[in-house]
Amino acid sequence: MRYETPASAKEAAGLLKKEKGAAFLLAGGTDLLVKLKMGIVEPDLVVDIKRIPKISDIQSSAKGFTIGAAVSGAELGEHAGLKKAWPGVVEAANLIGSDQIQGRATLPGNLCNASPAADSVPALIAAGAKAIVVGPLKKRTVPVEKIMIGPGKTSLAKGELIEAITLPKAEPRSGDAYLRFTPRTEMDIAVVGIAISLKLERGVIKKARVVLGAVAPTAIVVAAAAKAIIGSKLDDKALDKLAAACSAACNPIDDKRGTIEYRVRVAGVLAKRAAKVAFQRAGGSL
Ligand SMILES: Cc1cc2nc3c(=O)[nH]c(=O)nc-3n(C[C@H](O)[C@H](O)[C@H](O)COP(=O)(O)OP(=O)(O)OC[C@H]3O[C@@H](n4cnc5c(N)ncnc54)[C@H](O)[C@@H]3O)c2cc1C
Repeated sequence: MRYETPASAKEAAGLLKKEKGAAFLLAGGTDLLVKLKMGIVEPDLVVDIKRIPKISDIQSSAKGFTIGAAVSGAELGEHAGLKKAWPGVVEAANLIGSDQIQGRATLPGNLCNASPAADSVPALIAAGAKAIVVGPLKKRTVPVEKIMIGPGKTSLAKGELIEAITLPKAEPRSGDAYLRFTPRTEMDIAVVGIAISLKLERGVIKKARVVLGAVAPTAIVVAAAAKAIIGSKLDDKALDKLAAACSAACNPIDDKRGTIEYRVRVAGVLAKRAAKVAFQRAGGSL
């Protein structure tokens, strides 16, 4: 197995593209190294991106934030500006694993590992995040919801990698939230995850995005759930409609963590709770 430490994202893309065997990008390694040790993957080439200049930086501008592909969950949690603008994204990333995992795990790693239960993905989608994808020849910007296409599968072509994740500037009187439910209290994966991002105008919800995780092969944007709360002050009727729309959108598996009926019901319950948190973060009063 070869191990390379390229000096740019373009060079990393070239290395991945040229390799005839199994090639993997290495960010935090909290998924890849576990799979390698367990013999689930047998790479011929590992391309470590952590020595690329600026890949571990969080940059803020008038347009929003650019989060480099090697920024860890812990670093996201320590960034005051990011936490203030997108608390739901940061709380989702900070739910991943333990302190040790937090020191390494990245947003693109969570996205490209492509688990339906990935915690940061619904929050990124609700926030309107985009991935800056670099290939050997060109760079493109892709909405995060277009990256994962199924369990373990992404839309990235051979040789492509994510260089950074961008988040737009948070609008005034907006708020986001991410909640997940896990059967165990320590280090488990979600049976349901839900992210809600919304914007208020004179106390009424003007815009919303509702995204469910862990209840379908990929995270799902639930337009009917957003519609249920837009135009409301999040009264009980709107919350009931939101819960019903979220439950109806679920297409979950049945496994040791929870039955289909259980996940469907929990999705509705969590949706109401997450909406209340996002609403209050936007300055709304219940
Ligand atoms: C003990 C433990 C607990 C965990 N708990 C959780 C949890 O609660 N919630 C959760 O969602 N996940 C959890 N995970 C999974 C894991 O920590 C996350 O998915 C993490 O965000 C992966 O990021 P990473 O940087 O470590 O990825 P890596 O392991 O470096 O990479 C993961 C995959 O993505 C690819 N990749 C990485 N970066 C890029 C990039 N920039 N462009 C293209 N492809 C890329 C790699 O090639 C690899 O296939 C846990 C893992 C462990 C070991």
